Amino acid sequence: MNKLIILGASESGIGAAILGKQQGYDIFVSDFGTIKANYKEALLKMQIPFEEGQHSVEKMFAADLVVKSPGIPNKAGVIKALKAKQIPIISEIEFASRFTNAKIIAITGSNGKTTTTSLIYHLLKTAGLNVGLAGNIGFSFAKQVAQNQYNYYVIEVSSFQLDDIDTFKPHIAILTNITPDHLDRYNYKFENYIHSKFSIVQNQDANNHLIYGFDDEVVQQQMPHFNIKALRHPFSLKYKTSTANEEEKVTFENGIFVSENNIICHSKQNDVKISIDTLTLKGKHNLYNAMAAISAASLLDIHASTIAKGLSSFKSLEHRLEPVATINGVLFINDSKATNVDSVWYALDAVTQPIVWIVGGVDKGNDYSILQNLVQTKVKAIVCLGKDNQKIHDAFKNTISTIVDTQSAAAAVQISYQLAANGDVILLSPACASFDLFLNYTDRGNQFKEAILAKSIGSDAAPVSGPSKKRKEV
Ligand code: ADP
Repeated sequence: MNKLIILGASESGIGAAILGKQQGYDIFVSDFGTIKANYKEALLKMQIPFEEGQHSVEKMFAADLVVKSPGIPNKAGVIKALKAKQIPIISEIEFASRFTNAKIIAITGSNGKTTTTSLIYHLLKTAGLNVGLAGNIGFSFAKQVAQNQYNYYVIEVSSFQLDDIDTFKPHIAILTNITPDHLDRYNYKFENYIHSKFSIVQNQDANNHLIYGFDDEVVQQQMPHFNIKALRHPFSLKYKTSTANEEEKVTFENGIFVSENNIICHSKQNDVKISIDTLTLKGKHNLYNAMAAISAASLLDIHASTIAKGLSSFKSLEHRLEPVATINGVLFINDSKATNVDSVWYALDAVTQPIVWIVGGVDKGNDYSILQNLVQTKVKAIVCLGKDNQKIHDAFKNTISTIVDTQSAAAAVQISYQLAANGDVILLSPACASFDLFLNYTDRGNQFKEAILAKSIGSDAAPVSGPSKKRKEV
């Protein structure tokens, strides 16, 4: 019996264990941390041996295959030891893809993955397709392959999952954009991160498709350096077939662009034209995400009217430019998921009112210079929310006269509200990771929302989010 070692016992690890068990592997699961009670229970139920709080590396040398959680870096001792023994190490998406013939739509990029993935899933569901939602978005691909018989999978793929693929071959790959992120996992070399993102195309052939952000400079520049066999579908707000020069026209033959307020997507059998007003998601970044999603749906032969129906019924996602409440004319927006500078750029760009900007947390090597112009024109005050805010002070002290430090969501809400006036927006868009003060970005967003709602009690607050309230658009 083939011996499978699974490193990391959370959603993807347990999913791999379920699928591995079904496929007859002899499995051992190892987690360096503490395994959550529900996952432990699942392992016990399947009678799969496991360990926690350590990696017994010696025990693993007999493995035929290792499935590794995306959270474990390559520099971890256990990975180095297994690599030295030349034991194959793959990611959960690679493992799962070996046991399904379903069509895979895989989405990667530095920003917009979750939004684009959710939107494509929603469009495919609207069209009545038998489709699963998987990957980085929080649902194990392997578990679904074991337990469901989907014809399609829409999978959000992080660079960490792509680092350990071998034969993973999406029918449609989407590369939204590439900006520096997670460089700590890539030896602080941007090119390593770029390489990881582009590996999404490595196994595609001429019957497959690559949808990519044409306006993204890094993507543009890097395309010629990779062996891309898939049919290319660039999406752009800057170019269209009619304005492109001869060279670009060729590139744009199968492209997606905007003309006279319509998103146009040409393909051989399924021409699509949809008004921008159909979109429930606002902001330029979401227009890009929608273009990518429309292109994917169109390639799967979904009719324009069905795509439009799906676009107009899609609900915006929590913690991503999420309007929370308006108190005395001040609108609070939760963009806690904006954990890098580029996503903040789009948030600042999307908001048209004067902004009190809440920013900070764990810096991932941020370069704030691309924000200077937007901050100068739109931001009236900065409220830092982090343990060490020096870099933010240094970056904006010559641009913004009011920069205040806070160390809790409640204090940030309190102070930003004092700094705001009727008609302003208070925007939490941190550009940083959250774990100096919070468990994760969700916890940060939730604490922010709780502080706002606590504040709104007894005021004339108009909540704009929550299950029964209509969301206000930004
Ligand atoms: P990801 O899953 O890649 O982290 P999300 O869809 O969760 O992306 O969005 C994360 C953050 O990035 C949000 O704050 C959002 O406003 C911003 N964002 C979303 N789409 C894009 C895009 N296409 N380009 C730049 N920023 C984006």
